[in-house]
Amino acid sequence: MNKMIGLDIHNLASELWPLNRSITGEGTRETLRIISKHIPNLCIKSVPSGTNVFDWKIPKEWYVKEAYIITPNGEKICDFSKNNLHLLGYSISFKGEISLKKLKNHLYTLPEIPDAIPYITSYYEERWGFCLSHNQFESLKEGNYIVHIDTKKFNGVLNYGELLVKGNRKEEIFLSTFICHPSMANDQLSGPTVLTYLVKWIMQLKNPEYSYRIVFIPETIGSITYLSLHYKEMKNKVIAGFCISCIGDERSFSYVPSRNGETMSDVVAKHVLYWTDHNYKSYTWLDRGSDERQYCAPGIDLPVASIMRSRYTHFREYHTSLDDLKNVVTPKGLDGGYWVLRRAIEAIERNKKYKVTVLCEPQMSKRGLYPTLSTKTSVQTVKLMMNFISLSDGKTSLIEIANKLNMPIWKLYDLVDKLESHDLITAYE
Ligand code: ZN
Repeated sequence: MNKMIGLDIHNLASELWPLNRSITGEGTRETLRIISKHIPNLCIKSVPSGTNVFDWKIPKEWYVKEAYIITPNGEKICDFSKNNLHLLGYSISFKGEISLKKLKNHLYTLPEIPDAIPYITSYYEERWGFCLSHNQFESLKEGNYIVHIDTKKFNGVLNYGELLVKGNRKEEIFLSTFICHPSMANDQLSGPTVLTYLVKWIMQLKNPEYSYRIVFIPETIGSITYLSLHYKEMKNKVIAGFCISCIGDERSFSYVPSRNGETMSDVVAKHVLYWTDHNYKSYTWLDRGSDERQYCAPGIDLPVASIMRSRYTHFREYHTSLDDLKNVVTPKGLDGGYWVLRRAIEAIERNKKYKVTVLCEPQMSKRGLYPTLSTKTSVQTVKLMMNFISLSDGKTSLIEIANKLNMPIWKLYDLVDKLESHDLITAYE
């Protein structure tokens, strides 16, 4: 492998870190603009507030000018400009002087992790509030506090990014990530940044077999919106897909199946994860938590699985200020996440059925495919080649052959290319 791509992905995550992403608003648009510097063809779409999407309605757009609290001592705390997690997501405006007792009704903390600022939102219920560490909360003194929240909710738009890449076939591989959380790393920036670099790789593929549909959307409301516009077409075209999130730490690999559990995405995810980390964590459909909830909903039924590192809700720093780009998400973690997904996509691209072109075993020596010197390695190479040919019946897919041979699919690519170049096998489907 060449230079660690995780370093570039980590740099992009650092650039996106400070933006105040939410399900709507300028931080999300700016995130899409920065991503589109890497993916010039990314189309940034807008859907107006109030639009009905299946059972939901696009909410008003949220704008934050500033938000902070002044303590009785005159100290500025919970300053949104220092950390955007301090402000309750979608908080309404409030300006006034109130007692600590009253203020406490609007403060959110996480007593079990007392040094973390929790990430909390109230999209669909009008509230104002701040989030702070439990340690800071405990240190607040009696007295009057000046609360200053200058926000606006107005009829605006919900934005998402979409890219369609044409391949040889009209069947599509669908890749989705969310862009609606503020400054957090594994459960936010790892997804869109890894996907950005995967798209850069996909765009330079010379001859992609499949077409690609790629979306950067706000979680839940965004996927529901996107499906409400495209699900019929997607049901006809999408043959595999992945939700990409929580893909940047170094602790584990994990998998959440599609609802069906046996789609191409599931087969490939399990294969690639197993050969990346025999001890990867396998969850069930009941452990779902991100946009697969919509993609696999009854009647939508898309073949979408999730390949992750430490899964949402299952790591200590989840939805807090501790989910950062230093201690949780690292270049190495992002690198591993990128490669496991790239291998999964590549496996789908290359998962054809091959058939040997001669009856009985082909004579390898007249084609120069049989080593003239018998060493331990050459014996293994020949054994693998003959095993592969013996399984190339035109009915067994490459991933099934790899499973039968008990090896990762990517270790077969060179052999397939070699046998194809000697016209010893031909590809079906
Ligand atoms: Zn989340």
